[in-house]
Amino acid sequence: MTDTLVRSCGALRAADEGSTVRLDGWVNRRRDHGGLIFVDLRDHDGLTQIVFDPQQSDFAQAERLRHEDVLRIGGHVRRRPAGTENPKLGTGAIEVGVTSLEILNRSQVPPFQVNSDDAVDENLRLEYRYLDLRRPRMQRNLRLRHRMVKAMRDFFDSREFVEIETPMLIKSTPEGARDYLVPSRIYPGAFYALPQSPQLLKQICMIAGFGRYMQIARCMRDEDSRADRQPEFTQVDVEMSFCTQEDVLETMESCIRYVWKNVLDIDLAPFPRLTHEEAMERYGIDKPDLRFGLELADVGATFAQTEFGVFKGALESGGAVVALRYPGGAALSRRDFDALTETAKEVGAKGMVWIGLVADGVKSSAAKFLTDDDIAAVRAALEAATGDAILLFADSRDVAFGVAGKMRNEVGARCKLRDPGVFAFAWITGFPYLEVDAEGNIFPAHHPFTSPAEGQWELIDTQPRKMRAQHYDMVLNGWELGSGSIRIHKPDQQRRIFEMLGMTKEQVEDRFGFFVKALEFGAPPHGGMALGIDRIVMLAAGEENIREVIAFPKNSVFRDVMMDAPTAVPQGLLDDLYLKSTAPPIP
Ligand code: ASP
Repeated sequence: MTDTLVRSCGALRAADEGSTVRLDGWVNRRRDHGGLIFVDLRDHDGLTQIVFDPQQSDFAQAERLRHEDVLRIGGHVRRRPAGTENPKLGTGAIEVGVTSLEILNRSQVPPFQVNSDDAVDENLRLEYRYLDLRRPRMQRNLRLRHRMVKAMRDFFDSREFVEIETPMLIKSTPEGARDYLVPSRIYPGAFYALPQSPQLLKQICMIAGFGRYMQIARCMRDEDSRADRQPEFTQVDVEMSFCTQEDVLETMESCIRYVWKNVLDIDLAPFPRLTHEEAMERYGIDKPDLRFGLELADVGATFAQTEFGVFKGALESGGAVVALRYPGGAALSRRDFDALTETAKEVGAKGMVWIGLVADGVKSSAAKFLTDDDIAAVRAALEAATGDAILLFADSRDVAFGVAGKMRNEVGARCKLRDPGVFAFAWITGFPYLEVDAEGNIFPAHHPFTSPAEGQWELIDTQPRKMRAQHYDMVLNGWELGSGSIRIHKPDQQRRIFEMLGMTKEQVEDRFGFFVKALEFGAPPHGGMALGIDRIVMLAAGEENIREVIAFPKNSVFRDVMMDAPTAVPQGLLDDLYLKSTAPPIP
């Protein structure tokens, strides 16, 4: 008697011919022909064709099998008849002649096809996420995620980092976003917060003498819903003691290089580095997509004497005229340029001047205001050629560069320069310490635990807005993957930063007293960084949305449509928490 081999549905090969096997899986597809019933049985590993023949006692049951029924079968592996092999399947040389069938469970008719990756409405996918996750693409994405996270852990372990779990229920210490709050039943009227990141706890780990910390950390931020965001996300969170900025950059870059090599088998070139200032001047954005060139040119000097009102106005009030090349853009019609101008307006432009470098001269929206010399100078600045178009944006410096930067991405996409198979990483360093919002309020570009750039502490008393930070970002293909900084480790300096940000002594004591106290007890110099795992995996998987690499995400308006959350809770639960809702009842 031969032994029965238990195999996955992707395992069997021609060499297994003659074996007796057991397979467990789902009915991926059933075909009845020639008096035989063919079923593709599916599990995480692949598909195996199993065949029922009419002589067999289970045949009547096999006739009633439906998509997604769950089976255990026994049978003999045999070669498929010549000419019926399927070279696209690993198991395509064989089939299993079924000798026993056990139906472990039945399935309702699925609301969409599980056996293909055809497009399905996203809310339906999320409501039936368990079926969606059975589909090949989601199986691939989540397994890729697992391998990438494991490689990160392996890398940090090899460098003697220790993974330390930090709590989910902490004190409300906003880091720039709104905290999710958890009411305490035991302390009426008091709240825990869910962590926006383990920032203060990982710094405290440094004070506690764990020189190298890492964690695959969950972070929660109560922000407004946006299609590319999730209220909770995962990051690889890192902190090191006695380190320089260079040490952190080297560590994080090596980690990514290790993951790309070991999981994707790609050797990454060293990441180029740009200062924040350079990135803004060359690409108009602090997360430039470096898969393509198309650098911006500041052509204000060319138009210093211009009588063209739009340019003159911007330049006289200290603004800029910024030029962008559109490869092959001269072929666009006037109407195409009008549509492109609308796109520019959507991203903040007041208008756009275009010049098409056609074979017999130029065509332009501002032909009568531009001299041949102007056009020649702009053309030279961009190294533009006949057949290209030139787009010009005039405004305050920030707006002109910002809009040109966004339009550079638009042009890059139109010219198919944003190849998802290319990975262009970069470092951006030397960010300004402070940002100013539309109302003139200042806040830290990173967070208030970031150290100012070396030699710039003095500016805090005189020109705080000029101060730069030891803050760096890693970017990939136009996405920010994460930020980090060298931290403040002296308590007085930390107090001084809080004060600059407008906090009173009492507020500092109340919110961050525990932290400043910890800094008083011999805090070592330290720094670190966090990278967003959802985004990293999304880009590695060639996906365009982080929900495609998260098992159970909220939808684009932050609802869990599978569990149906958030929802109202029974009054008794609110009473236990001393809470009274003033919200109108949920319809
Ligand atoms: N806590 C920061 C963040 O979540 C990262 C860091 O500074 O390490 O963005």
